[in-house]
Amino acid sequence: MSPVVGFVGLGHMGHPMARNLAAAGFDMVVFDLDRDACAGFAESHGATAGGDAGAVFRAADTVITMLPNGRAVRAVAEAGIAAVPEGRGRLIVDMSSSAPHETAELARTAAAHGYAVVDAPVSGGVGRAETGDLSILAGGAGADVDRCEPIFEVLGRETFRVGPVGAGHAMKALNNVMSAAGLLLAAETILVGRRYGLEPEVMLKVLNASTGMNHATQTKIAQYVLSGTYASGFALDLMVKDLATAGGIARAAGAPYLMGSAVTSVWELAGAQLPPGADQMRLVRWLEDLAGT
Ligand code: NAD
Repeated sequence: MSPVVGFVGLGHMGHPMARNLAAAGFDMVVFDLDRDACAGFAESHGATAGGDAGAVFRAADTVITMLPNGRAVRAVAEAGIAAVPEGRGRLIVDMSSSAPHETAELARTAAAHGYAVVDAPVSGGVGRAETGDLSILAGGAGADVDRCEPIFEVLGRETFRVGPVGAGHAMKALNNVMSAAGLLLAAETILVGRRYGLEPEVMLKVLNASTGMNHATQTKIAQYVLSGTYASGFALDLMVKDLATAGGIARAAGAPYLMGSAVTSVWELAGAQLPPGADQMRLVRWLEDLAGT
C-alpha cells in the first residue's frame, strides 16, 4: 500500500503530474486555491480534496508543491507546519521553480520541525508532464531523494541528482536562461530571415540540420508559432521570474552575465507590455508586432 501523497498546486503542470500519480495508484490528497479545480480533480481521479494546506499536511506523509514561486511554497509550507508542528520525518518536495535561497530557508525552518525538504523542479513543459517524461533536477540529501524515487519514476524520464537542497532550483533557473535566450534568438533570426525573403519553414529545416539548432527551432517555433496558437502552457511571467532567479545567482557568483542580462531585459520589457498571464510564446508575437509583420 502506497503512503499518502499530498499535492498542492493543480495548474498547467500540477494537474497532469498529480493525475499521473493518482493513475499509478498513489493515495492522493490535493489542494489548490482554485476550489473548483481541486474538487474537479478529486472527483475525476479518486483523490481527496483537502480544504487547505493544513489538511494536506495532516493527511500526507509526503507533500509535493507545484506552485508559481517560492513565496507561495513558503506560505503553504508554513500553514502546513503550523497544522502539524511535529514532522517526524515527513517530506516536503518542492517541484515548482523556486529560488534556491528561498528553498534553503524553507529547509531550515522545516528541519526545525522534523521535516525533510527536497527541491525537484522539472523541465519539459506540459506535454512531458502529461506523458510522465519530465526531466527532474533534484537537490537534497541522498537518503531524502531516495525516498522520492517511487514518485519521480512516475513523473519523469530521468532524475538528475545535482547537489544539496537548493541546487535543483539553481540548475532549473540556469536551464531557463538558456531556454529563454534560445527562443528569443530563434524568433528574432526567423523574423530577420523573413524580411530578407527566406521562408520560415525552410529556415527551420536548415537550422535543425545545422549549428544554429536549439529547442526553440526543434519544437517551439513549429508547434506554437507557425501553427498560430502561441500557447505553450507556460506563462511569460513565470519565465521572467526564473530569469530574475538566475540573475540573482549570477550576481551572488560574481560571474560575467552579459548575455543573460540582455536576454532578461528583453523578456522583462515584453512582460511589462503584455497582459498578466500571457503565454511565453506571446514574446514572439510581441516581436512580430515590433517588426510590423
Ligand atoms: P499555474 O499558474 O498554471 O499553476 C499554479 C497553481 O497553483 C494554480 O492552480 C494556482 O491556483 C495554485 N496556487 C497558487 N498559489 C497557491 C497557494 N498559496 N495555495 C494553493 N494553490 C496555489 O503554473 P504552472 O505552469 O503549473 O507552473 C507551476 C510551477 O512549475 C511554476 O513554478 C513554474 O515556473 C514551473 N514550471 C512550469 C512549466 C510549464 O510549462 N508550465 C514547466 C516547468 C516548470
